[in-house]
Amino acid sequence: MGLIVQKYGGTSVGSAERIQAVAARVIQTAKAGNSLVVVVSAMGKTTDSLLKLAYEVANSPSQREMDMLLSTGEQVTIALLSMALQAIGQPAISLTGAQVGILTEPAHTRARILQIDTERIERHLTEGKVVVVAGFQGVSSTDDMEVTTLGRGGSDTSAVALAAALRADLCEIYTDVPGILTTDPRLVPEAQLMDQITCDEMLELASLGAKVLHPRAVEIARNYGVQMVVRSSWTDDSGTRVVSPLLQPRPLQNLELGRPVDGVQFATNQAKVALLRVADRPGIAAQLFGELAQQHLDIDLIIQSIHEGNTNDIAFTLEKSCLTPAQAVAIAFGPSLASTIGSEAPEVFIDPQVAKISIVGAGMIGRPGVAAQMFSTLAAAGINLQTISTSEVNVSCTIAAADCDRAIASLCQVFEVDNSVVATEPMTTLPPVRGVALDLKQAQLGIRHVPDLPGMAAKIFQILADANISVDMIIQSQRSRPVQGVITRDIAFTVAQMDAEAAQVVLEKSAPDLGCGEVVVDPAIAKVSIVGVGMIGQPGIAARMFAALAQQQINIKMIATSEIRVSCVVAEAQGIDALRAVHQAFDLGGKESIEVPTRTTPVWL
Ligand code: ADP
Ligand code: ASP
Ligand code: MG
Repeated sequence: MGLIVQKYGGTSVGSAERIQAVAARVIQTAKAGNSLVVVVSAMGKTTDSLLKLAYEVANSPSQREMDMLLSTGEQVTIALLSMALQAIGQPAISLTGAQVGILTEPAHTRARILQIDTERIERHLTEGKVVVVAGFQGVSSTDDMEVTTLGRGGSDTSAVALAAALRADLCEIYTDVPGILTTDPRLVPEAQLMDQITCDEMLELASLGAKVLHPRAVEIARNYGVQMVVRSSWTDDSGTRVVSPLLQPRPLQNLELGRPVDGVQFATNQAKVALLRVADRPGIAAQLFGELAQQHLDIDLIIQSIHEGNTNDIAFTLEKSCLTPAQAVAIAFGPSLASTIGSEAPEVFIDPQVAKISIVGAGMIGRPGVAAQMFSTLAAAGINLQTISTSEVNVSCTIAAADCDRAIASLCQVFEVDNSVVATEPMTTLPPVRGVALDLKQAQLGIRHVPDLPGMAAKIFQILADANISVDMIIQSQRSRPVQGVITRDIAFTVAQMDAEAAQVVLEKSAPDLGCGEVVVDPAIAKVSIVGVGMIGQPGIAARMFAALAQQQINIKMIATSEIRVSCVVAEAQGIDALRAVHQAFDLGGKESIEVPTRTTPVWL
């Protein structure tokens, strides 16, 4: 007995029958003596259909009107579910985000929650009513009280934020799959259910394309210690528990606006090995990292940026104490390539003493300025960035080891983080890979010949941040080339496909002033990623992923890693095959296939 927040997604409320089934489940939970707040999404594919309608009447509809339109989807469901509950004798009341008092920033289509007034919900709960709340929407905290939405998939965030604000005992996310699976069962039917997953792993998976949970919901659950379970709304099975660490209690004010960065991490005893001008064809990364794995060398960061001509550069870092054998592998790799595929031997570049410095935190998601702020902070301290490798929740740079202390001090100050922490301890008792994610909605951009001076990355990513473009994976390569007497490097990154054109326009406008070269775009990419806290300290995990891709003759265009993740960019057309191959390589499949109901558009749209 307690206070439970339940959230039902689009497919779970996709028809009148489904809404009645949800009502039956709600009443069962209420009859067991629980107080209940139910958050719902729009029915089936309603939000997609409304978006389509908007683009039928206008080429670039206003974001304000878009919020007005999209918020209607959830409003239909709250009324219908309340009616269905009342019809079976359960007192219930529906409330929009504005009626609850879900106060957000005034940012249309991507608002963050600032605060939730719980008074009205609590009043209705004491009256014995089930309170049915529209997910995905809020109201701006400005005088105009504008209707806002939280971004696609945002009902999960509404539910977890309500659970945090109400200090609920449990937040149950009901959806169309049995819980969190090793990958998307629509693409890999033999995906297996996990009993539990850590918030850190779930955060990476969600931000890398596993849309079963909105990453911001995971972030709130972690920050506020919300007990969260993801379950099927078709069965009584227990689903997946998303485990949060026990943190200090936080104020509920500025709920989603806490610090963008949770911590500054560093590793000082690192060395870097780079292979320049490696042949760009399937199997090369697999061979190199396979040979390193055979020597049991635990590789930390791996960075492969966009290729030029028909070659790539691959750089990696590892513990300084492992440099000698790693260097031997890298040096022997050239002649071995020359004899097998007849390519020229790559140039091997060694830096025996580098430091890795990272900022981590889910507060970076959707805040395009945070990576730029890290780069400009380091630039202001006169620190040059050697390589960069990022995800949505982690930005890692290698820098000269002598600069590490200054880097930590300035980053801790700028991001208001008290203690910097050394990298996480290995957890070798866990399986190395928990889940595999695919993101088909990204495009890749590259800027050639960026002058190798402190502050350049900061300027480039600030230009994108000013245009409100969130960058996902940033990679700065190792190779440097002199252009008119200035040393230059290439920087590549990925953005949402819909932002690619705008990113290209703003960068092309600034490139000549910045002294940079051509801006190149590849809209047809896919990003496949493996995630698991168990990969920390386990050699050979990346090599296994690269080998699985090589076996399918899939060429890797870019590689970026963080402590608990390896991401590869491949051609879009090979994305699903890549996902399947990697899922199989880590033995993640089960014997039974998961069937997922199809999502439909309600007849009136
Ligand atoms: P809802 O409407 O209930 O919010 P979503 O469509 O947003 O549902 O999320 C559920 C979908 O997420 C599943 O149908 C599945 O296709 C997809 N998915 C992607 N990755 C995973 C994963 N690792 N585990 C479970 N489902 C996943
Ligand atoms: N209806 C919204 C969407 O489709 C929010 C949600 O379902 O979580 O994105
Ligand atoms: Mg969803």
